[in-house]
Amino acid sequence: MADTANQGDLETVSSSLLTVINDLHTKYKSLQEGIVANYIPELAKVNPDLFSICIATVDGQVYEVGDIKQLFTIQSISKVFSYGLALEDHGRDYVLTRVGVEPTGDAFNAIILDERSKRPYNPMVNAGAIATTSLIKGSGATERLNRLLDMFHRYIGHDVFVDISVFTSERSTGHRNRAMAHLMLNFGMIDQNIEEALDLYFQQCAVMVNCRDLAIMAATLANGGINPITGEQAVEKTYIKDILSVMYTCGMYNFAGEWAYKVGIPAKSGVCGGIMAVVPNKMGIAVFSPPLDIRGNSVRGVKVCEELSQRLGLHLFDCSGCRE
Ligand code: GLN
Repeated sequence: MADTANQGDLETVSSSLLTVINDLHTKYKSLQEGIVANYIPELAKVNPDLFSICIATVDGQVYEVGDIKQLFTIQSISKVFSYGLALEDHGRDYVLTRVGVEPTGDAFNAIILDERSKRPYNPMVNAGAIATTSLIKGSGATERLNRLLDMFHRYIGHDVFVDISVFTSERSTGHRNRAMAHLMLNFGMIDQNIEEALDLYFQQCAVMVNCRDLAIMAATLANGGINPITGEQAVEKTYIKDILSVMYTCGMYNFAGEWAYKVGIPAKSGVCGGIMAVVPNKMGIAVFSPPLDIRGNSVRGVKVCEELSQRLGLHLFDCSGCRE
């Protein structure tokens, strides 16, 4: 009897999740605000009309709508995962000596370090992400890249590749990132080989994913680090709270406060137009739509997540279900 009731509940939840994302896709398809990132020349070529939404639950259900198979480069969303790997490689105390956990209120590409500690503010902005990536262990560039790609495999459940044209495009134009790396080298926040660290950072940003992959990666974080489809442990459970905390406070850059206030779940965006959000113990959400607002967040992505959070009651501090 109880089983039948649960089954009924599950079916209701499933059909409502699909209905909600279908609704949102139809509603925001015609929204024509924002511009596609063009400071990395290869990114400027993307079709601005591409639009997909995907939800993956911690019990392995996947709901999707739109251009779900379309591949794009993961960009800054990769910062979440390399932070997890750096934590596994060194532990949180050491990583904290190299990268802080304070929101900046500044743009993702601001060339700033904490005045007193000389650390980059947090791992979700470029400076912090470059420092984080420089911590990935390995006996050489190839081994470090392979460790990163293996990590992505665990989160996604299949092999991933670096888009060479986006990688080389960013490598040859990423002067701001190079400037940050030099500044951090000056203060001893990253080690000697900054070109190797930058290459690995540009490569991790150029890893190809689709919207479904992103939702499964988010669901893996929601599920204590275990990929809900393959059952594989992608990251040690002990680091999930560190990862989700910095996503919550810093993942949407200088929109992080408003995002926390309105949407209320940890998330990370990238200049590819992807947003990945994590509802702990419940689901991962991904939206892909390339046109960005002035802070570098997907315009449709933000709208969809705001409304999804409201309609599904996802805000972590929502008390409408609390006892009277
Ligand atoms: N690769 C991009 C950069 O370093 C990532 C930025 C982003 O997605 N916000 O500028």
